[in-house]
Amino acid sequence: MPGVRDRNESAWLLPNDGSRTNHGLRRDMRRFADTDEIDMVIVGCGAGGSVLAQRLARAGWRVAALDAGPFWDPDTDWVSDEAGSHHLYWTEPRVIAGSDPVPMGSNNSGRGVGGSMVHYAGYTPRFHPSDFSTYTADGVGADWPLGYADLRPYYADIEQELPVAGEHWPWGDPHGYPYRPHPVGGNGEVFLRGAGKLGITAKVGPVAIVNGRFGNRPHCIYRGFCLQGCKVNAKASPLITHVPDALARGAEIRANAMVTQVVIDQRTGRALGVNYLRDGRERFQRARMVAVAGYSIETPRLLLNSASSRFPDGLCNDFDQVGRYLMVQGAPQTAGRFDAEVRMYKSPPPEVSSEEFYETDPAKDYKRGFAIQTVSPLPITWAEHVAAQGHWGSALREYMSDYVHWSCLGALCEFLALPENRVTLDDEKDSHGLPVARFAYSQGDNDRALVKAAQAVMEDILHAAGADEVITIKRYAHLVGGARMAASERHGVVDQNCRSFAVPNLYITDGSVLPTQGSANPALTIMAVAARTADHLTGTA
Ligand SMILES: Cc1cc2nc3c(=O)[nH]c(=O)nc-3n(C[C@H](O)[C@H](O)[C@H](O)COP(=O)(O)OP(=O)(O)OC[C@H]3O[C@@H](n4cnc5c(N)ncnc54)[C@H](O)[C@@H]3O)c2cc1C
Ligand code: SF4
Repeated sequence: MPGVRDRNESAWLLPNDGSRTNHGLRRDMRRFADTDEIDMVIVGCGAGGSVLAQRLARAGWRVAALDAGPFWDPDTDWVSDEAGSHHLYWTEPRVIAGSDPVPMGSNNSGRGVGGSMVHYAGYTPRFHPSDFSTYTADGVGADWPLGYADLRPYYADIEQELPVAGEHWPWGDPHGYPYRPHPVGGNGEVFLRGAGKLGITAKVGPVAIVNGRFGNRPHCIYRGFCLQGCKVNAKASPLITHVPDALARGAEIRANAMVTQVVIDQRTGRALGVNYLRDGRERFQRARMVAVAGYSIETPRLLLNSASSRFPDGLCNDFDQVGRYLMVQGAPQTAGRFDAEVRMYKSPPPEVSSEEFYETDPAKDYKRGFAIQTVSPLPITWAEHVAAQGHWGSALREYMSDYVHWSCLGALCEFLALPENRVTLDDEKDSHGLPVARFAYSQGDNDRALVKAAQAVMEDILHAAGADEVITIKRYAHLVGGARMAASERHGVVDQNCRSFAVPNLYITDGSVLPTQGSANPALTIMAVAARTADHLTGTA
């Protein structure tokens, strides 16, 4: 991949001695004083925040990314154990409401440098061109103020930097990947076999997992603990794909720094910096610009918690847009039992997928669609799947001891954005005394129809592959939206460059800005949007 090292040296800055962290780089990183007026302070060092930090640092900006969680060291902080990995999640209290409330905790956001990608599954598809104009095409969702073509070069750049491995992708905007596809495990073989029998196209990849060697990052060893934080450094997360380069180029990554407010000059209406808590002390980081990238729940919460006399209903909320249009994908999971051993844990959980049902099919009574992927739950998650079917006691034990015979597929259904699905502030306070987020969520008829259709296809695939029993549970995945991008301040919070309509030196660069979600996992798109914003800021767009 010519040129990738010239753009982002992270993989070469990691150690080559069997350890996972460049401690020298962290020890010697530049440290700004709170009183320094730095060029940009970023709230959150996950998918969106870290890409912005790395790009701006490369352009010579004085930039600091503050993250509420720790600066992880994969060698000492992570374990290949489901129960022992709970500390990776954002588990501060949140209140859930609505007719279909979304459980919070392990299946949504992370904390600490690297953000939710530390424990994401590693699947990195692009959005389809149709995702950017669903309102015009289908009368549902929203049109983005930018098109797929605006993001295409950023998709290609980030795919090289992670890097992504997969077969040539025939759906959406057909494209290839920088690394060849990984070999497929038992679960992937089941999917390919069943889909093949039904004439459904399924492909291997795309995963942001090293297939070969990339800089000083080693090849995946197919141990299946991607959702617990990859101790091998084979799976991409910003902790290893963007933070090392950002540090080497003079960015400061300030961990354990919980931002409590974006501070506004009440006279000019411009952002002055952020208030944050660190080591039990309240502090203020001055900055010329502020970017918020705290994830779809925490970003709207921070804006609402930053109300002031100039913005009495919350920052950027003069038109009651903050927190609205929050989306979650419907993610039913169907498992099938086979006489032969499948051993679905022996590979990255997502390895094979189909986007054949992604687009609106005029023959159906619903709009938009769904994707199907292998998911391969580890034993505790498998127990949750079985228990959700009502199996308990000796029946649950029986299913658990039969674990190696099961295969599992998951769908991502494009649930539509609704204004009532939103984050507001609750009366309950967190350990810092700040109002917690209240997230209300209800499904629509189109959403329910998609889940039904996706479940039927997954069951057909597993039966066609030879399963004698199939069981399905309903669940959710991936939150995006809540501070969406739009053509005007009456319809969203930021413009096409992620600049807030209300405060000219305030940007939002995380998944909150997505107006639609497609049936694709969102991390690659979040990174691509942040990279585009960085180009806009540095004047190279
Ligand atoms: C179990 C799981 C599996 C997933 N699998 C996939 C997958 O396979 N493919 C995919 O594309 N996506 C996947 N995702 C989703 C993906 O990880 C997220 O969509 C993406 O990381 C969101 O990026 P972000 O920048 O919006 O936020 P994040 O990456 O979550 O970063 C937000 C950061 O902000 C910090 N923060 C929040 N509030 C504050 C504050 N007030 N002050 C300071 N710091 C703050 C947090 O600590 C966090 O580090 C998965 C998610 C989960 C939970
Ligand atoms: S399967 Fe590969 S990417 Fe996943 S945790 Fe293991 S080594 Fe890392």
